[in-house]
Amino acid sequence: MLPPFFKRLRRQGVPTLAAWSASVLVFMAASAAMGHEGHDHGAAQVAIPETAAGVVAEIQKHHGAITAAVTGKNLKAVHDLAETMTALAKALPDKVPVEKKERVQGSTTTMTKMLDTLHHAADAGNQPRAGIELKKLDAVVAALEKQVN
Ligand SMILES: [Zn+2]
Repeated sequence: MLPPFFKRLRRQGVPTLAAWSASVLVFMAASAAMGHEGHDHGAAQVAIPETAAGVVAEIQKHHGAITAAVTGKNLKAVHDLAETMTALAKALPDKVPVEKKERVQGSTTTMTKMLDTLHHAADAGNQPRAGIELKKLDAVVAALEKQVN
């Protein structure tokens, strides 16, 4: 049963608004489910550079900041940096020439998974695990630099 508000909308010929509202609610629920320990995930706001080289430069910058956070035992800083770096990694495959796309896609998918593991280790305050994951991330960032440049 639809609430009276939606029934009235439908009578007025605007059924799409109700459908739109429902999909927004579903989206919000999905986002909330990604959060843990009192904070949300998947809501990174980041300006994506136009070019592949620009995106790689931002990935390198965030990699440097994450390295500083982990080695400086400042794990709380990892959350935001990892989310932003994930958004950058996901944007990269569409910006490289078509002949590079498949390999770059492979690297960024691996990178995204590592960032997720590192992020959760950091959120949990697990310094040894964060250090191990950071080393893996170093390797995939180095591989990606070679693939793009
Ligand atoms: Zn987190």
